Amino acid sequence: MMIPQEILEKIDKNRQRYVEELLGFLRIPSVSTYTRHAQDVRKAAEWVLHHLKRLGLPAQLHETGGHPVVTARSPFQPDLPTLLIYGHYDVQPPEPMEEWITPPFSPSIRDGCVYARGATDDKGQFFTYLKAIEAVLAVTSRLPINVKVLVEGEEEIGSPNLEGFLKRHRTDLKADAVAVSDGSQFSRGVPAITYGLRGLSYFQIDLQGPRIDVHSGSFGGVTANPAQALAQVLAQMKNPDGTVAIPGFYESVVPLEAWERQELAALSFDEGGLKAYLGVDELPGEPGYTVLERKSARPTLDVNGIWGGFQGEGAKTIIPAKAGAKVSMRLVPNQSPSVISALFKQYVESLTPPGVRVTVTELHRAEPVLVSRDCTGIRAAARAIEIGFGKTPVFIREGGSIPIVNVLKEVLEIDSILLMGWGSPDDGPHSPNERLFLEDFHRGVRSAAALLYALAP
Ligand SMILES: [Zn+2]
Repeated sequence: MMIPQEILEKIDKNRQRYVEELLGFLRIPSVSTYTRHAQDVRKAAEWVLHHLKRLGLPAQLHETGGHPVVTARSPFQPDLPTLLIYGHYDVQPPEPMEEWITPPFSPSIRDGCVYARGATDDKGQFFTYLKAIEAVLAVTSRLPINVKVLVEGEEEIGSPNLEGFLKRHRTDLKADAVAVSDGSQFSRGVPAITYGLRGLSYFQIDLQGPRIDVHSGSFGGVTANPAQALAQVLAQMKNPDGTVAIPGFYESVVPLEAWERQELAALSFDEGGLKAYLGVDELPGEPGYTVLERKSARPTLDVNGIWGGFQGEGAKTIIPAKAGAKVSMRLVPNQSPSVISALFKQYVESLTPPGVRVTVTELHRAEPVLVSRDCTGIRAAARAIEIGFGKTPVFIREGGSIPIVNVLKEVLEIDSILLMGWGSPDDGPHSPNERLFLEDFHRGVRSAAALLYALAP
């Protein structure tokens, strides 16, 4: 169904008021990681609750043991599809304060942007859906589909209570598709739909040599050295060409399709800009793949940290007792973290030299996600963005993982995951002077409203 022109006009007309309301939301310092802000976090939850109620949606605030979850749902209309809208009302800490041109919780408008902590992540983006719903109801008094809203206050601390909450409310939250706007466009003015996310396998390797640090003169030559052993193990994780050397690692990787490679190649990606950002001269990686392919659609392995032995000033002649490292792998469909986990452990054990004991501990895992581009939800999202932004979106894969997406997918069994970022990549989420272009906010409201209609039969 096509969105009635009247609704878009309504949104255009109320643009200024939406921004003013957003400023009120942004003034609440809902920093979820600081206990001293617990009351502010609750205030933000209540702000969302009241706003939902004002829209006429029955809404509820749920205690979770941590920060509350707010939910709402439109009156159920049979035979219509249901969209679940996810957002989070908590924000990252604003520090370092001295870097902010205007204070993080005194939103300031300049250069066409609103500057505040949470402007783009995620208050400003999530709020677009509330204004979209308001505009639709103001014109038609009935939503074209069923809508459920789920807003949490712990996203920035890893959503510790979300999975339990979803499990308890699984039936209430059932939906045909879920919309998440907590990212960005591909580049400013080039809106995007993210249809793939990499998964994650994360390990700690601990190597134990002698019982205690011992004299390298008295015991060198007869004692295995765990730091040396660690270097050997890590050096064999990757081949000289940059590919991962773990046997079987690539076995279930779904190859990039020809159309995908063409599309990625058609995106103008600024390699020089990336080099400048990283402060490096080269962007090395797996041969045969472009930078964009390597950073989003191919699996990788990285050593995240490494320790062992003497690191103080001057010289100390020892054979260390212990050494260790953290190693993570970014996975792509259909690599399974549980299979990779077994392969990794086996490989590390096989590489560990005699005289050293090895322990491999898995710390974290996330399944990779690939949403079929050929589903009604994705097609509707593309049409909605075209209306909202006046441009056809590009389709991208994201190199990182979004843990809540896995939880939503697994617990609620929703396959149609619509990841549509309204912000711009340089909005600076988590950084000082976080911002959101008001034009992006406005386009977001229009797209969100258009989405409700695009999903309607
Ligand atoms: Zn976020």
